[in-house]
Amino acid sequence: MRLEEKVKPARRAPVWADVPDDKWNDWRWQLSHRLNSVDELNQVIHLTESEQRALQASGLFRVDITPYFASLMDPDDLRDPIRRQVIPTDAELVPFTSMMEDSLAEDKHSPVPGLVHRYPDRVLMLVTTQCASYCRYCTRSRIVGDPSAQFSRTDYDAQIDYLARTPQVRDVLLSGGDPLVLAPKLLENLISRLRAIPHIEIVRIGSRVPVFMPQRVDQDLCDMLARYHPVWLNIHVNHPNEITQELAAACDRLTRAGVPLGNQSVLLAGVNDSVHIQRELVHKLVMLRVRPYYLYQCDLVEGAGHFRTTVSKGLEIMEGLRGHTSGFAVPTYVIDAPGGGGKIPVTPNYVVSAAPGKVVLRNFEGFITTYSEPLDYDPTAVKHLEDHAARRPEPGQSGVLDLLQGERLAIEPEGFAETHVRGGARQHRLNADQHKWQPLGIGAGRAPAGDSPANGGDSAANPDQPQPGTITVINGEVIS
Ligand SMILES: *Cc1c(COP(=O)(O)O)cnc(C)c1O
Ligand code: SF4
Repeated sequence: MRLEEKVKPARRAPVWADVPDDKWNDWRWQLSHRLNSVDELNQVIHLTESEQRALQASGLFRVDITPYFASLMDPDDLRDPIRRQVIPTDAELVPFTSMMEDSLAEDKHSPVPGLVHRYPDRVLMLVTTQCASYCRYCTRSRIVGDPSAQFSRTDYDAQIDYLARTPQVRDVLLSGGDPLVLAPKLLENLISRLRAIPHIEIVRIGSRVPVFMPQRVDQDLCDMLARYHPVWLNIHVNHPNEITQELAAACDRLTRAGVPLGNQSVLLAGVNDSVHIQRELVHKLVMLRVRPYYLYQCDLVEGAGHFRTTVSKGLEIMEGLRGHTSGFAVPTYVIDAPGGGGKIPVTPNYVVSAAPGKVVLRNFEGFITTYSEPLDYDPTAVKHLEDHAARRPEPGQSGVLDLLQGERLAIEPEGFAETHVRGGARQHRLNADQHKWQPLGIGAGRAPAGDSPANGGDSAANPDQPQPGTITVINGEVIS
């Protein structure tokens, strides 16, 4: 079946039947005619009492819905998947265990306002708090929608200054809020300033504008982005009903401008927590040349408790995708670590067992097979090529890879060393010699072999000094 048959034009709710097409297709008209009150929304759908109460509650996360997106709701279906994403109910007011205002501790990990530098080589750069419409489960509801939290020229300068003096950053992800609601000149100004920084290799944009307001993705925007390649863009579609001919046309313009497209979805109870809905979604996305990138577990953010699913539901969905459909249609299911720590992939287990020389695996059908490993594999045969490759340092963040590469023996939880000096840090004849627990040959990559304390050199046995072979964490900061 062709794309045009699978993907229908968006309907237009009767209340806007008389709006001339040139207005309807103008993103500025869409922005300035957004709905947010009981009266306005009642002209499009029949609000429930719960929805009306929430819309009239004070302190609720901002409501605003473009006429285009509001028209995609079935006015008679109280459980419509689009309605659930943008119309509040009083379930939002219900607190839940582990709920946080900033569940990913983003503001804690910001060297300057709006810049979240969590990973070694890439940063999240928040450039606005405004969106085309507001998702009820928004992970950044602490600032999003709040005009008083808007980023200023001074913030942008500080963000760009930090990036210019932080050469380990090679990838900048523009987000917000939604970068595509910025004034076109301002957006171009920011991208061009990033491009002027030599060590920034790629710029990416996370945007739900193509879904809420595809009219914004005009040829001017695509031409502008194409001047600053490589530019990547992730859209945010949660349900197949959001995929319209208008969105398809916007994606087509972007991909023709050379912008690779991905999609990020959030797993939402009562919206898309179904293998069959997720399959239909990813199939439609790849027809639009959009590669499913992430499927997020819903964050522990205030107001979003009722959207959470179990993690097992996510695993069931992944089980229903991998092997059952095109490999590039399968997103990575991730939980963004509560408290900060970044995205953690979660997958069904495919390795059933192992012995030296053999790994036993199962496939999506439950077929169990054996892979025979070489018995004479030499992982150092590539060493001479590695020496030519640029090694990127990852200060304090090399993690489990460091364990595997023999740079460290262990990663200790905060306070581990203190806890295990029982009885008040007494030194006695058996614990005085620090050499005893220094693993031979670990950490050799940091200092020439033989000189390294880890190799039995002189470590001066100062118990206050972090010992090689372990990572020491103090107050959440990795210090060695
Ligand atoms: C998601 C995210 C990124 C990008 O992560 P990728 O896995 O590279 O897509 C970068 N920084 C922060 C803070 C993020 O949350
Ligand atoms: S578009 Fe993104 S930033 Fe904006 S409300 Fe939705 S989830 Fe939040």
